[in-house]
Amino acid sequence: MPHRRQLSDSEKEQLLAQHGRRCFVDGEPVPEDESIEFHHIKPYSEDGPTTLANVAPVCRRHHRTIGTMSLQEYRDKLELAGFFEDEPKYLNDLISFKRGHYGEKFTYEILDGAICLYFEGGRQDYPLHTCATTGWQYFYATLPVEYLRNDRDLQPRALRQASLWRLYRHFQTNTQLAPSICRIDESGDLLLFDGQHKAAAQIWSGRTTIESKVYLDPNPRVLKETNLEADGPFRQMSFYSHELMRKYADIFGEDWAEYMETEGEKSELGFLNFLIHAKKKTKARARKEIALAMYREIVDDPSNKLSGYLSETPRGRKQPLSFARLKKTFFQHLLVPPPVQEEFESDTDFRKHERRNLVKLMNIVAEEGLEGKWAPDRADAAHQKAERVFSAGAVRAWVILLRDVINQHLHHYTDEQRRQFFYRGISDPEFAYFRQFVQKIFSHKIWDDPDPSGEISARLAKDDATTARSLFDEKRLTARWVLGE
Ligand SMILES: [Zn+2]
Repeated sequence: MPHRRQLSDSEKEQLLAQHGRRCFVDGEPVPEDESIEFHHIKPYSEDGPTTLANVAPVCRRHHRTIGTMSLQEYRDKLELAGFFEDEPKYLNDLISFKRGHYGEKFTYEILDGAICLYFEGGRQDYPLHTCATTGWQYFYATLPVEYLRNDRDLQPRALRQASLWRLYRHFQTNTQLAPSICRIDESGDLLLFDGQHKAAAQIWSGRTTIESKVYLDPNPRVLKETNLEADGPFRQMSFYSHELMRKYADIFGEDWAEYMETEGEKSELGFLNFLIHAKKKTKARARKEIALAMYREIVDDPSNKLSGYLSETPRGRKQPLSFARLKKTFFQHLLVPPPVQEEFESDTDFRKHERRNLVKLMNIVAEEGLEGKWAPDRADAAHQKAERVFSAGAVRAWVILLRDVINQHLHHYTDEQRRQFFYRGISDPEFAYFRQFVQKIFSHKIWDDPDPSGEISARLAKDDATTARSLFDEKRLTARWVLGE
């Protein structure tokens, strides 16, 4: 739990003088007869003190509903909910809301294979390229957002609140990998037609420019077909490149093909509902089958080193893990349970990231705990240690410990952040930290304590959710220890 220091009366007075007697969440005055409370603005780090710069007054009503969010997060979330109160909302509305105006006029000219854009803030020059297939000219640019407008013709869809919120959170800590796609049409308007949630999330967080690839007056009819084919609501199974989609096709066969032929956006949630309503499966059954497809995809990933250590039967003595044990450990605790509602392969579908993150972590576990150590034929000290580390209850306990440590390291304070543990982009350097955490857990003396009575081994082996955990606590194998606090 974060360290909470009591504020002194004079500090409270100081904060009220600074912020006024107003709730930080919505800026409304707090009546004199109502008590005022205080809350942190940004999530504070585990070891940081409560500084006055990071605390603000808040009314009782908001304080009761804020949960584990920081004030900043809560305010952003409420502001977004307010913006979406009367739907539908389009990119134009969002730009207006944040910047006051949208779709400003500008001029441009083409000089020596470059385009010069004349904005109020000054001239911008970018080299022009030509598409080898269509002959259309295009350029990459970082454009001021108030010149943008939504491409009603090519992108008629409204913004989705949940997707926007998720991407907004994602971009708080992650870079944008691919630019949004725009066109300048014959009347000189700058229209954004692909990546609108990405752009909207950036603008929502206060960005004044947007990274874009811009086509210069392309044939809108051809572009519309391209866009529909690549990203339209009626796209077919063949479009999906994600391995998971192939896994679904393998496992669900006809059902999957049939679902793909239905109209509208495709998502896990949509597929779950299809299995329930069209295929008369129970909700539990449908959920289980979708989860199984996800699990199989992770285990069948050829780069997954841990898969080489799985036995076919749960009681196989020769291997440290089984599929059933992975379900109770890595999959149960580190994946978002299905269904997620995001459209498959859209900007906001993070299943691909989640899979990649989990496989990377499983590889670290294999490298640090098993490679060069697991040798049942040799049965030496290194192997015996690995056996204890991978005994039934132990794995259940340290997977949860590892998750808690990573949550703390990544500053995941809210329930939503914790729920979406790996359902996000995580940069490579973070995995160097995750490796240190795994190394530290595996270096604990609990794994090589002399144990003549066999009592510790027995407690580590007990296949339940609590026995090994309480042993960890007794022996101080805790998140605090792993993080070196
Ligand atoms: Zn309030």
